[in-house]
Amino acid sequence: MTVKTTTHEFQAETKKLLDIVINSLYTERDVFIRELISNAADALEKFRHESITATDVFDAHVPLEINISLDDKNHTFTITDTGIGMTRHELEANLGTIAHSGSNTFLSQLAEAAKKDVSLIGQFGVGFYAAFMAGSRVLVQSRSWDGSEGHEWASDGTGSFTISEMPGLHRGTRIIVDLKEDAHDYAQKWKVESIIKQYSSFVSFPIKLEGEIV
Ligand code: ADP
Ligand code: MG
Repeated sequence: MTVKTTTHEFQAETKKLLDIVINSLYTERDVFIRELISNAADALEKFRHESITATDVFDAHVPLEINISLDDKNHTFTITDTGIGMTRHELEANLGTIAHSGSNTFLSQLAEAAKKDVSLIGQFGVGFYAAFMAGSRVLVQSRSWDGSEGHEWASDGTGSFTISEMPGLHRGTRIIVDLKEDAHDYAQKWKVESIIKQYSSFVSFPIKLEGEIV
């Protein structure tokens, strides 16, 4: 059950970025996995750093790791981390705007690259929003290490997102990507395993795929 849903418009720059991501990046889709793993690793690192000095930590016992699970029937790719998590305010601020400094320059470079050769786009990363390369809808369920109530962020990448209260979450973040029809193979283990091995061998936390360490 979710309650207290609010709807928010994406920042104008974010809309432009999403438009490029959704419409012209299909050849470089694999990078969405790298971006989500890199965010999960960052969140775990931030938590590890904070927990050295903090006295009051929510869910202090949960192991620091990244779990990826796949559902080939419902066509979903899900990545869960037990990192620092996000409060309602952080979900709204971090997943509605572009963190890059000089995002306008960044956007015009990205648009140029997309026009010239879509394969160039991979080098831009595009962060969290890369999830919309493969996802027709993305859900982000998160609970901060401060123990405040958890929330679910949801969007189809066109214009707006919603945030709803979601009770019962553990510390950290779960991102559920509802795969587009032509991206269903990201729910297949062999495919995801090879991408993880290719991109993420330097991640300093365990990555489990369907329960097994990759
Ligand atoms: P960047 O990683 O370069 O800051 P992103 O677009 O990848 O840019 O992510 C934007 C922000 O969203 C991050 O800086 C972080 O604050 C937040 N974020 C994204 N994923 C997570 C996560 N798994 N856990 C906690 N915070 C996250
Ligand atoms: Mg990132």
